Amino acid sequence: MSVMLPESSLNRRRFLTAVLAGSAALAFGDLAFPRAARAAAGGGPFTLPPLPYADNALSPSISANTIGFHYGKHHQGYVNNLNQLVAGTPLADQSLEAVIKASVGAVDKTAIFNNAAQVWNHTFYWNSLRPKGGGKPTGALAELIEKSFGGFDQFKTEFAKAATSQFGSGWAWLVKDGDKLAVTKTGNADTPIVHGLKPLLTIDVWEHAYYLDYQNRRADYVAAVLDKLINWDFAAQNLAT
Ligand code: MN
Repeated sequence: MSVMLPESSLNRRRFLTAVLAGSAALAFGDLAFPRAARAAAGGGPFTLPPLPYADNALSPSISANTIGFHYGKHHQGYVNNLNQLVAGTPLADQSLEAVIKASVGAVDKTAIFNNAAQVWNHTFYWNSLRPKGGGKPTGALAELIEKSFGGFDQFKTEFAKAATSQFGSGWAWLVKDGDKLAVTKTGNADTPIVHGLKPLLTIDVWEHAYYLDYQNRRADYVAAVLDKLINWDFAAQNLAT
């Protein structure tokens, strides 16, 4: 998504208000500030989207301390690295999704792919969570889960299994694959959007996502995310668009 907004401070303020109001659709993606303005501000073409909630809003399941490092250091770091890697190249004028698709599998663009995909995956992850999340989906999403997995409990078991069994760093995903839903996992920066799949939700299972709060207990982190934080509204919105 690429939305060009007028440059007045009034419009910029309106934009920020809309993002901070928590619209996942606005908070996510390659939004808003004209590239030239951002580059002139020294930030490079890609920016760290605002968190859709306060840094302590997911506590105690995910602490503000974890968010501080994960969002403030890791996610920001991927943005910074990407900006350095594409500076002065044609990719600096592309959307984040276009950079990911242009760099996947290119041997001379591995670092660009890794950082771009990690920027995208993390923004998707923050939106996959919400305070007082968890519970069960409703409507068309609930029906499709029933049809694809045989029931919500079966889905949950399969998703947790993918998240806990991913060897090393990576991600577990609920995706739309054709007319059905599926659970999949990816290693390191790999992302379903380069595999013809439409992501609905993700859980980050890199150690930096849970080690400060759970140490080696990845299964406890995954259970807390599924029971208390997962954002079914975001999944339903992704299914509908
Ligand atoms: Mn992460």
